[in-house]
Amino acid sequence: SVKLNMHGFSEISSISDSFNQMIDVIRNQDTARQEFVSNVSHELKTPIASMKVLADSLLSQEGMPEEIYREFLGDITNEIERMTKIINDLLSMVKMDKNTSQVEVVNTSINDLLEQLLKRLRPIAAERNIELIYESYRPVMADIDETKMSIALNNLIENAIKYNYDDGWVRVTLNADHKFFYVTVQDSGVGIPEDVQDNVFERFYRVDKARSRDTGGTGLGLSLTRSAVLLHRGSIKLYSKEKEGTTFTVRIPLTYVP
Ligand code: ADP
Repeated sequence: SVKLNMHGFSEISSISDSFNQMIDVIRNQDTARQEFVSNVSHELKTPIASMKVLADSLLSQEGMPEEIYREFLGDITNEIERMTKIINDLLSMVKMDKNTSQVEVVNTSINDLLEQLLKRLRPIAAERNIELIYESYRPVMADIDETKMSIALNNLIENAIKYNYDDGWVRVTLNADHKFFYVTVQDSGVGIPEDVQDNVFERFYRVDKARSRDTGGTGLGLSLTRSAVLLHRGSIKLYSKEKEGTTFTVRIPLTYVP
């Protein structure tokens, strides 16, 4: 247990170092981002505070049963995972910044890209018996930045699984005309109330904070998706009905014009 503990602590302090470095970077870039920085601080301080409480109570009591150690260390690991996810999303966000970031486009098969993403997500959908359907109407080649487009589409499909009911379905379609390709991600899930449909693309916005925390959300996914789509000169729309499901449609030009 002692070894595990030490390991836990060095992870925590290295995460908190990178957190502080990142805060400095963001702060120096643009002072108008104060509100954003305070959101980030809050999001990261919450798991740090929980880890501190858990670690302190492990240290302060001697001769605790091993199950308790394991349970607390398990909780610490969950908090670390959550922070890692937030930090990864934040790093993607810095990469997606429209003022500083370049799209490095390569003519890429969108069919292959979607198949790769779906292959990775299939096991997660299967855990809750959610059917992942893929319909491709034609081979599509387009100028995209593969890393950024993958993040964008992955977030949509991941959300369609996350905010779904057990035994539900997710349908991903790919189509194209002579100018654009279109990806739709449709789900049989909980839906998004009409009055907040415009807000879901905002950084850190979550419809239901408590539920989103359960599902491991950071509230950054859709804002990343939108940034990536806009960097590709594309557009994104959503249609949703509460308790019935949601459809996101992404439209991206086949040829990138800077
Ligand atoms: P999160 O990390 O919380 O999933 P996102 O930015 O990806 O953050 O999404 C913002 C919020 O929009 C989510 O918290 C969720 O409430 C809602 N949302 C996103 N996608 C869906 C969906 N397919 N069905 C229902 N609600 C969704």
